[in-house]
Amino acid sequence: MSMVVWTAEMCRQLSEMDASGMTRAAMAAELGVTVNSVVGKLYRIRRGHGAGGAMPLGPRRQRAAKAKSPTADDARIASSIPPGAVGLMSRRRDQCAAVLDCCGPDGFAVMCGAPVHRRDYCADHYKRFFIPVKCAPRERNSAPAE
Ligand SMILES: [Zn+2]
Repeated sequence: MSMVVWTAEMCRQLSEMDASGMTRAAMAAELGVTVNSVVGKLYRIRRGHGAGGAMPLGPRRQRAAKAKSPTADDARIASSIPPGAVGLMSRRRDQCAAVLDCCGPDGFAVMCGAPVHRRDYCADHYKRFFIPVKCAPRERNSAPAE
């Protein structure tokens, strides 16, 4: 089996031929590759991963890619994320950085995401983190701590 190395030029030609409505077989013949290569490449280009001319995935990496695709469990986790929450990697500076007690589908922490009030936190979280809760007045001269 031979690997097809997709050059940027081939990718460009493929996209053009695809846009012009050519069949997969005709595109394959034009580029000198197999129909399977064309089908796979078009799929990856449409997914937004193919423009760089990457080689087709081998069986092992295909399986790995499959394992990463969203599962029912991911959907369940995603549905438990409160609206407005943002992922660790996508939080902007003006969004609250309080980490919520749940996990995003990508495995990263999920943050509150509400507009920042002070110090990287929304008004609610700022209050919780920085303003001390009033302690119940200590009873002096009562039973000493054990
Ligand atoms: Zn917050």
